[in-house]
Amino acid sequence: MPIIDFHTHAFPDEIAERAMKKLQEGPVKACLDGTLSALIRSMDESGIEKAILCNIATKPEQFEPILKWSKKIRSDRIIPLASVHPADNRVKEHIKEIKSEGFLGIKMHPFYQDFSIDEERLFLIYECLVENNLLIVMHCGYDISFPHWDIASPQRIINVINRFPELKFVTTHLGAWKQWEDVERLIIGKEIYMEISFSFGWLSEEKIKELLLKHPSHFVLFGTDSPWADQRKEVDNLKNLGLPDNLLNKIFFLNAERLINSI
Ligand SMILES: [Zn+2]
Repeated sequence: MPIIDFHTHAFPDEIAERAMKKLQEGPVKACLDGTLSALIRSMDESGIEKAILCNIATKPEQFEPILKWSKKIRSDRIIPLASVHPADNRVKEHIKEIKSEGFLGIKMHPFYQDFSIDEERLFLIYECLVENNLLIVMHCGYDISFPHWDIASPQRIINVINRFPELKFVTTHLGAWKQWEDVERLIIGKEIYMEISFSFGWLSEEKIKELLLKHPSHFVLFGTDSPWADQRKEVDNLKNLGLPDNLLNKIFFLNAERLINSI
């Protein structure tokens, strides 16, 4: 069974070194050098066939260069997500462009883009995504490099989904990083996409297994957040949980494939 990693990062060669240096001022150290070639090598070593590559526009004007780079690097194996910034006043037009260029959707990150996921400013973006049938991968929960701000919590996820039930909204980090009690209370059991990176090592294996078994099996996606985690280890971690084979196949591949094909 092939594997799709729904959450990875890489940078253009010219800026990888600088970007990785800056990002590693925080508490997490990377497993790769942040280049695309390193990511592909790591995928080869981990049996990962395809990766969703998440870009984040930290300023509105990064829309163009990210889109340009995404067009350049996309392939059978690398599926880049574009990004828009909430302060972008041409966001509607830009989301249309993302669609017409054939991308799957966008990645957004409330801590690096300075918003709260259920604030009104975001509604236009969500509306445009629904209109254009594009997905969004959203950083959810706290972020390891920031104070524990309540800007991407399970309750806020629910607020977004209640308001935009058609939106293809992918939560990350097993629902919301380090807010797993609220994930269990509010997200688990609902038909909400959940990518699982940064849960192993932060939550007990028993608890991860319990949550995965309780969640609707069509809505869990394998993701690593590479280069911030080791893809091979993350593949093994999931394999070693002792989940039924049919569920494992859904998480590693089938759910991602179905979601990608629905765009
Ligand atoms: Zn990430």
